[in-house]
Amino acid sequence: MSFTNYDQVKCPCGHIFEVELYSSINVQQDPELREKILAGELNVVVCPECSMPFYAERFILYLDPSAELIAFVYPALFVSDRPCWEKKMFEDFENAQKELPDFFFKEQKFSYTPVIFFGLDNLVEVLITGEEKTGKKVLSEK
Ligand SMILES: [Zn+2]
Repeated sequence: MSFTNYDQVKCPCGHIFEVELYSSINVQQDPELREKILAGELNVVVCPECSMPFYAERFILYLDPSAELIAFVYPALFVSDRPCWEKKMFEDFENAQKELPDFFFKEQKFSYTPVIFFGLDNLVEVLITGEEKTGKKVLSEK
């Protein structure tokens, strides 16, 4: 299951508007979202005022049970506060498992630890490297 929510974004032209953005994605269930990430299209929105497409950077929870990967992807700029976000990640991970059991495995909880990323590019690099190493897609087996 993947989740979206409505959030305010600001276009470089200054226009502020509300759009639906992905906040959590499960690429085993929604493999097309993985393709979107690799193509740099996830959470790219178009400004209704100037028609310019831009990337609305938000925190994203990226899950791939088949690859045993759970990634907390924070905006790239947050890297300067890395220890703080790592702490938050582990707290949020514990809470999420309690509050959203269905979002994770139906019967078993994740036994592996989450991985932290800063910026989707950071995650994309790892996904691509993983494919090269194993010679197959690390994620999203259909
Ligand atoms: Zn605009």
